[in-house]
Order: sequence, then C-alpha cells, then structure tokens
Amino acid sequence: MKKISTLAFVIFIVTFLFSAVIFTPQPVKLGVTQAPIYFKPRLTQTTSTGCSPTQIKTEYGSRFLTNDIAFFKFSVWTAMIAPSSRPLTTKDKTETKMIKFPEEGIPVLMYHSISTIPGNTLGVPVKEFTEEMEWLHRQNYHSLSLEEFYQALANKTPVPDKPILLTFDDGYSDNYTKAWPILRQNGFKATFFVTTNSIGSGMMNWDQLGDLAREGNTIGSHTVHHLDLATLSYKQQENELNISKQELVNRLDISVQALCFPSGRYNKTTLELMSKLGYKLGFTTVPGKVHLGDDLLTLKRVRISGGMPLASFQKQFP
Ligand SMILES: [Zn+2]
Repeated sequence: MKKISTLAFVIFIVTFLFSAVIFTPQPVKLGVTQAPIYFKPRLTQTTSTGCSPTQIKTEYGSRFLTNDIAFFKFSVWTAMIAPSSRPLTTKDKTETKMIKFPEEGIPVLMYHSISTIPGNTLGVPVKEFTEEMEWLHRQNYHSLSLEEFYQALANKTPVPDKPILLTFDDGYSDNYTKAWPILRQNGFKATFFVTTNSIGSGMMNWDQLGDLAREGNTIGSHTVHHLDLATLSYKQQENELNISKQELVNRLDISVQALCFPSGRYNKTTLELMSKLGYKLGFTTVPGKVHLGDDLLTLKRVRISGGMPLASFQKQFP
C-alpha cells in the first residue's frame, strides 16, 4: 500500500514538472478561472500585454498546484484539436499536382458585386459568396492568375489540378472590402475588370486596385465608359480600349493583357483593335467553359448569380 502511494506521488510530481517545463500560460482572460485558455509553448511567449512571463507564471502558480492533472489533460486535448481549428490558408504549393489543360475545360467564373441587391441577381450576397469559395477550397480547386491561364491556353503550360479562373466585372468597391478578404482566406486570387472612368465613388479606388495587384491579383480593362462597343465607331472603340489600358498601366504600374466586353458586346472592329493594342485575352458573357484551342479573344464564362443555390453552383464544376 505504501509502495502504491509512493508511486502515485512520483507520477504526480513528474506530471507536474512536465506540465510546468513544457507549457507556459498566456496572460489571457484571467477573470475566467476555469474557461479553456489557449496555452502556448514557452518559446512563443510574448510580453506584449505589459505582463512579464514571470508575473504570469506566478499568477497561475496556485492553480497549477491544485489543477495540474486537469491542466495536463487540457494541454493534450488542445494539441489534439488544434489542427482542426486552424483557419483556412493558402494551399501548400508542394502538394499541388500539375496537369495538362483539362479536356472538360476550365470554368471562368463571372461575378459582379458581392452584396445583396434586392431584385437584382448581379449582386451575390456575402454569405452565398463565402459558401461558394469555402466549397471550392474544400474541393481543392486552384485559382489561376490571368498569366497562368494565358500560358496554359497559348503555350499549353501545365496548370494546377482542378483549375478555375475567378473574374469580377465593373470594379465595385465591395470586391475589395468584401470579396478579397474571403478570397484570400481561401487561398484564391482573382482578375478584376474595371471601367477607368468610374474609379472611386462606390467603385474601387486606385489605392485598392494597387493593393489587389500587389497581392497577386490581376487588373484588366472593362473600357473607359462601359459603353456597347458594337455600336461605336472605330475611333471611339480605339479610345475605349487604348485609354483604359494606358491609364491602368500608368497608375498601377502593371501590364494589362485582358479586356472584358461591357455587357458582353463587341464586333469585328473590337477584335482587330485588341490585337493592334496588345490585348491577349478577351472575355465575353457567353456561357460555357474554356477549352484548349478556343479563340483567345472571345472566351466564355460561367455567370454566378445572386440567389443561386449552392447545389446549382456545384454543378458548374467537373
Ligand atoms: Zn460590366
């Protein structure tokens, strides 16, 4: 009996020392005595709250003496659940399998505003957009940069497994304030087509566009005035394509490779001007996926509308 109690005492001491040496508590929510507190290894301890690590240890000391076994159990429990509570992050590139351009095509998703616009499906509510991006993330889809997409189409460069291209038309400011944080959270990048005469005032401003570009997104032209190109003269069309491109290049210090036709409207002159002015890709509103061999200046897209059930969204993907 004496041996058993001695053994129990030794186990108790070892457990206590192990807990105290490996883990040092953080100075959070001291008032909530029994609530789960996130413990971190000593190496990551900071003093940013103004409390020194020694002070913190002292404050917690008495509770350790009475609760050390519970604390040890909690530490193990924390370590076990920690991986599943981690936020969604960008996928590890080393895990990504590279493939040839998929035979079933690449879906180019077309969004506009990420907001609730009553009676208008152009706006996709934040909640729906979040569900869509999280589903794509869980299904391991990879968003391409416009350059990756172009290289895949023009030069058959391999693409990551399950590729998609995410596009946003018109340059609504919610693209920056609402969509971009959700895209980033899910490890995605996108292409934003902006109308250069409408920068700012309800639409994204130059600083926001600059931020997006620096973070690995692409900015493309949606012309200067968002007019129906098919109704304009050669000269008017040239101005719409050329001035918008030059302004984006000059203001953002980027190269502009892509044009998105306002309301999907264009004609032969538009395509001639695109080649003349150095546009490599053109995006329409014609529904469908993009396949190898498609005309690069009149690419199809998949429209994502507000109110679309998640099941319908999911059907757009191979
Ligand atoms: Zn538009």
